[in-house]
Amino acid sequence: MSVQLPDSRPFKVSFPHMGNYSIPVKLLAEQLECEIVLPPKMTRRTLEVGARHSPEFVCIPFKYNLGNYIEALEKGANLLIQAGGGCRFGYYGEVQEAILRDLGYDFGMVRLLGGWKLRDHIGDFKRVNPRLTMLRALKAYKLALRQTQALDRIEDYVRRNAGFEVQDGAFEEVHEAFLGELDTARDMRTMAEIESRYLGELEAIPTERPDDLLRIGIVGELYVLMEPFSNLFVEKELAKRGVEVHRFVTVSNMVEHGGRKGPAHVDDLIARSGDYVRYHLGADGTESVSMTYQLMQEGFDGVLHLKPFGCMPEVNAMASLQRLSREHTFPILFISYDAQTSETGLKTRLDAFCDMLRMRRQRPGTAGAIASGEERSTA
Ligand code: SF4
Repeated sequence: MSVQLPDSRPFKVSFPHMGNYSIPVKLLAEQLECEIVLPPKMTRRTLEVGARHSPEFVCIPFKYNLGNYIEALEKGANLLIQAGGGCRFGYYGEVQEAILRDLGYDFGMVRLLGGWKLRDHIGDFKRVNPRLTMLRALKAYKLALRQTQALDRIEDYVRRNAGFEVQDGAFEEVHEAFLGELDTARDMRTMAEIESRYLGELEAIPTERPDDLLRIGIVGELYVLMEPFSNLFVEKELAKRGVEVHRFVTVSNMVEHGGRKGPAHVDDLIARSGDYVRYHLGADGTESVSMTYQLMQEGFDGVLHLKPFGCMPEVNAMASLQRLSREHTFPILFISYDAQTSETGLKTRLDAFCDMLRMRRQRPGTAGAIASGEERSTA
């Protein structure tokens, strides 16, 4: 980890968006006793400013994060947090810091390199807030984790059921209200109460589930899976096509499995991959292959594999996924995202994929992998 504090006080801390996880991250950041400056909601401009100042071939999480930083600095932030990661993302903080300084911004940066354990980072957080104690940080971490679990459970329910709502927008309305209340919850009991009340409200929404509903799993790279703006709201698009959507990569799952870098978890994924992966592929690649194999065995209709353009761990995973798809005639739609990815193109591909899955129900064994995007695996 590295910390460079801003020259001026008060500190105004900010961090990039990723789905609705800014809610628990904000709870954690409150322990730094700084003003919190959330970046504006993601828009096309976020991507445009991020992409304009990024190396052209860098993966899209870099561009979105840089866009978030620039928009947060424009709002007055002066202390940025960068999360680090198990792939190139681990180097991105340094590069982004250099780019932002070249652009003339004056700020400090906390880069969370190293492990996922609180003890790896507490010393550096104490440099931001000397009053922070391990006990207080631990308590805040547990609260943020509980908030994250509530968030993931509610959003999992929405993903699986929103495609069958009788009244358009009913799930979204309850989901939005849930986010507003969860954002203000600061104790375990309130978080549990909010989760169970909103789950009840969601269960009470009238739905009609057709006999031929499709079940599709989504696998791939962490950021594009969890940041809906970056994947062009692919889950909502699937729901509009009457699909029950399943996604397993969530922050709750990552924490449960030790940041998904835990050797036991990786071994378990490899053991349950049907021999389609023998060594860890890095980042989320092993999980993409293993989950696809497991979903196929569970009788899912198909899988969407999402990745940023140029993401090496997922390009590696594609080799195994294409073989799996070919050998089992199992449908996989590969989607690669970059700053130029078109919403219309995505919708057309989803229409074709869902039509093909429904036709396949009538004539099993007629479809395999559909590549979309520029990189192909070489297997
Ligand atoms: S996993 Fe891939 S897309 Fe994500 S940060 Fe790493 S290289 Fe980039």
